[in-house]
Amino acid sequence: MRLDGKIALITGAARGQGAAAARRFVEEGARVMITDVLDDQGKELAAELGPEFNAAYCHLDVSNEDEWAEAVAFTISTFGDITVLVNNAGILHFSALADTTLADYQRVVGINQVGTFLGMRAVVESMTRAGGGSIVNVSSVEGLGGMPYLVAYTASKFAIRGMTKVAAMELGQHGIRVNSVHPGAINTPMVGEALGRPVDITPIGKKVALRRVGQPDDVANVVLFLASDDSAYCTGAEFTVDGGATATH
Ligand code: NAD
Repeated sequence: MRLDGKIALITGAARGQGAAAARRFVEEGARVMITDVLDDQGKELAAELGPEFNAAYCHLDVSNEDEWAEAVAFTISTFGDITVLVNNAGILHFSALADTTLADYQRVVGINQVGTFLGMRAVVESMTRAGGGSIVNVSSVEGLGGMPYLVAYTASKFAIRGMTKVAAMELGQHGIRVNSVHPGAINTPMVGEALGRPVDITPIGKKVALRRVGQPDDVANVVLFLASDDSAYCTGAEFTVDGGATATH
């Protein structure tokens, strides 16, 4: 029960890595507000995990400031002050820089980057009142280095890494820790959704040190560590979860 007594809000938690984190959090004793724009999947997961009122669902488009205020208020009234925030929601868009429209760029940045900013800002008051907490921002290996055809995504993930450090420095005095997680290729629907067709990413795994792609639990377990008091002296730090993909020079 490494998260006993914790109250967590996870974004983009209806499926993929966010859903894996929600499952692990409930297993470890947290009460979890699952949020997403995929309402049916989110409600289903909350019903599965929440027979003892450990999980609930709330619609939250992370790019919408008003919805953040509503989701935070609903979490506080349902469970109490928030002590863990996982900014996990994200989208991918592949296009050459020269072909990327302003609308494409703003859509990706609006969800990945602005969503993370709005989320951190929305929970500060509640976490401070609770005496502290942990914010985990899901960036990517694309927040550590560039990748062709991912200009908006890479920009948004670098921004998350930068904001994490600013927030860590400002919020440490309130007992709030802020760290970023940088997954490599993880087996979720994200790449297929961006390309509009199912995609088998397993060949990518053959090129990394551990010779496999990651599974959602590989990331969820690191997010769990950062949410828990096991990481009590970690803040402003970057945690790579990529099977060694970025270990090379
Ligand atoms: P996923 O597509 O399965 O999950 C993303 C979730 O975010 C979905 O449930 C989706 O509905 C939700 N979402 C999309 N737009 C939203 C919005 N406006 N508001 C709220 N929720 C929204 O993909 P995933 O792999 O589980 O992605 C989780 C995070 O991990 C993302 O931030 C992604 O960028 C990051 N990541 C993924 C990989 C990978 O290879 N899968 C690698 C590095 C980083």
